[in-house]
Amino acid sequence: MSIDEYKKKCNQTEDEENNKFDPTQGAKYVQNYDIQDALKRKKQSEVFSKDKPGPIVPVKKGEDVSEEQFKERIKQRPPSLLSSPQKMQKTGGENIVYYAVSMPALMGFMVDEKTNELKVVQTCPSAGKCKFECFALKGNYQYPSTSIRQHQRLNYLMNDWNGFREQLLAEINKAYYTNKASKYKTGIRWHDAGDFFSDGYINIAFDVANKTPDVEHYAYTKEFLKLSNRPDKPKNFRFTFSLEGKYDKLLLRALQNVNFRYSQIVPYDLFKDLLKSKKGEKWNFTPDDVSELKRRIIEKYGQTLNLNNQNVFTYGEMMKMPNNPERKINVIVSANDGDEPASERDDVDGIYLLEH
Ligand code: SF4
Repeated sequence: MSIDEYKKKCNQTEDEENNKFDPTQGAKYVQNYDIQDALKRKKQSEVFSKDKPGPIVPVKKGEDVSEEQFKERIKQRPPSLLSSPQKMQKTGGENIVYYAVSMPALMGFMVDEKTNELKVVQTCPSAGKCKFECFALKGNYQYPSTSIRQHQRLNYLMNDWNGFREQLLAEINKAYYTNKASKYKTGIRWHDAGDFFSDGYINIAFDVANKTPDVEHYAYTKEFLKLSNRPDKPKNFRFTFSLEGKYDKLLLRALQNVNFRYSQIVPYDLFKDLLKSKKGEKWNFTPDDVSELKRRIIEKYGQTLNLNNQNVFTYGEMMKMPNNPERKINVIVSANDGDEPASERDDVDGIYLLEH
């Protein structure tokens, strides 16, 4: 091969990579977002209403920030792409440390670093009803220190996907070797907030999982259309399709025939009278209340999602049961529990997350 042929081949490979991994391809943007207005209003509750949720604006209360300063803030590269570690025990007693890749929920700001244009990306393009009660648009997620990091990650990804991918791989590998030395496994939760908003981004996530084969990757996602038919899904990547998105009808229809793992948020009103704990305390249900809780969940979802007295268990009950792919179970997960062990088992069909 001549030097010219070799160069041509290298350029072709680079173009193919760019097309495959470019997260901006297919991403959706919010048109005509009034950033001046959002920056003028200081409180998050003033920036969007419950009926019309929008992006969290990472600005401190009372802070005067110009659009240019806001852009500069977002353009800084984040110190880390992974969130703080969380230690958990899996079924069978194995120890694992989980980290999340956290993006802005629902929508997020980025700057096109070639044109300096501020854009608002739809980071959960398949969100449905969930956006009205989204946990990641409330509480600690509203702190500017948390939100700015999410926006910096999004901006980094959209402007330099290769740098993002390399940094993420380096962080995961470092975590893996540190945890391995203490006999812990390593797990990555894609998105405690946000979702797979474009095909290029999914390809980056798959590539990262393929390059870290001993790490467990998992995601809760509303991107049923994009992810339900991906034969190239890495073996170490597990998805749970969440209901309350745009494609619920399709997902529910598919669940009649295929065992996709799914999750359903159980509204607080369905069980609040059963809770014995006060605000801020660990959640506590008596055994009678657990039976009543199961009964109500079966009554509400049983017909559509095939629940009955034999296949609904609490998280505590599940943790005592060996993982058995021959059987299919549904698990109730409360605020005290971690949802990760349920989403990594072969025998879990439905995960019922108690709203908190
Ligand atoms: S998909 Fe998840 S993060 Fe996005 S709006 Fe819905 S609940 Fe929030």
